[in-house]
Amino acid sequence: MVKSRDYWERRSGMALLDLERDGDEILKRLNLDYVAARTGIIDEISKLYGQYARDNKISQNKALELIKGREYRTWRMSMEKYLEEIGNGNEALLLELNTLCMRRRINRLEAIEGEIIANIAKLSKVQSDMVKEHLIRSLENSYYNSMYDHYKDKNNIVYELMHNHNVKLSKTAVEKVLTLPWSGANYSKNIWNREYNVASKVRRLVTRNIMEGKSIDRLTLEITGVLGADYKHAAKTLIHTETAFVKSQADLLVYEKLGQEEYEFSATLDMKTSDVCRRLDGKHFPVEDAVPGVNYPPMHPRCRSITIAYRPDKRGKTKAARGEDGERYKVPADMTYQEWYDMYVEGNGEKGYNKSKISGGISGGISGGITNMNSEEANTHAKLYYEEIRHQSTDVDRISKNTGYRKEFILEIKHYLFIDEHDLNGEKTRFQPDFAIAQSWQRLSQGKIQPHDITLLKHEELERSLILQGKTQDEAHKIASRAYNYQKEAERYYDLLEKSQKRKR
Ligand SMILES: [Zn+2]
Repeated sequence: MVKSRDYWERRSGMALLDLERDGDEILKRLNLDYVAARTGIIDEISKLYGQYARDNKISQNKALELIKGREYRTWRMSMEKYLEEIGNGNEALLLELNTLCMRRRINRLEAIEGEIIANIAKLSKVQSDMVKEHLIRSLENSYYNSMYDHYKDKNNIVYELMHNHNVKLSKTAVEKVLTLPWSGANYSKNIWNREYNVASKVRRLVTRNIMEGKSIDRLTLEITGVLGADYKHAAKTLIHTETAFVKSQADLLVYEKLGQEEYEFSATLDMKTSDVCRRLDGKHFPVEDAVPGVNYPPMHPRCRSITIAYRPDKRGKTKAARGEDGERYKVPADMTYQEWYDMYVEGNGEKGYNKSKISGGISGGISGGITNMNSEEANTHAKLYYEEIRHQSTDVDRISKNTGYRKEFILEIKHYLFIDEHDLNGEKTRFQPDFAIAQSWQRLSQGKIQPHDITLLKHEELERSLILQGKTQDEAHKIASRAYNYQKEAERYYDLLEKSQKRKR
């Protein structure tokens, strides 16, 4: 075990932040489904008001009038279409919808209630599908990144697992984590219960408002309020908390696989927010005793505590320490993440959970304090960043989306900057890791773009085309710098950053 405690703590924290970012992407997409549900409900109510309202109010008689003939048939058909679309999902809501559909006598208010139930049942189905996909991806991502880190650390157990083609996460293990009712229920049950309550709430307020003769504007406002609050607080909290849960469970699976006996609790990211986590910080427990909410994260909603393998001294209480580091097993020692993953996860022909391809590596976000891009600290971070960027597989898509540049182009730049070897002073080698470039790449990927980050893309675009025209790397770089002086802009950026930080102190 070569790497320090700090290293593992940092890797784990960065991994959690990265998964949270993925969760935020899911939330952004989910927002559109909330808008669709709201619009679906309000449109239906608007139709009612359009036909029967006087002075923007519906009379009780009109609201409680039975619907007949074509009006009834249209309603039934639309409900059946919903049921077909949703398939399985929120059982409680679907039961209510089915019961309503079976009735022969339906008044206008009940017809609207059917629309409310259907729209929210659909929303909870979409929501639980999206969250599921995100959680599986997070679990796999976290597990494999961590295994790879242990491989890079020449952990003998990992070498043994690789040798035996036994690195892969089993499908059963993934299912088990996703179905565990760790907070009283698992994620999908939690979503279903919550959306059932949201549907009841919206039904009640629609009934009350119509019966009290309130205007549609008022009603619209109230529906928007209920759905908005559900999205803003409940959905966000759920995604963040479930992500933290899955991340912690991935770590647990790694500990178990590596024969790690104890873990150490670390509240570095969570310190400010929670007393319970602060008290556990630095304490260690047997892996087999880990219980979420008791001595293992997440301890509370939105918890950001993590754990690391506990090693009292260098010999440690791990099986790994007993053998010589990796020497007994003939596996390549210097694979990139992708090579390692392709060979030992994808390529082992064993049954395993393979549905969603691993996406996104770990990207740092903790070195915002570095203002001197040439310092030793910056160099260390740059090396780490470059290694991580090489493992990322969603950065190209994200940068393309954030900047409007074609994916193929961004991929070329990525290979050029971080992966390929170049003729540099008569030697074939990769570019020296550059802190400013690493940070630019990260910001481009996260969408928090500075002007000089775009200059980097323009500079590299030009430089590459000049090399293709036959210029040497050095010549091409000089010409490209005249048009797009990334170096100078980056220096100015870090100067300003330093000044602004000095002011804050
Ligand atoms: Zn916490």
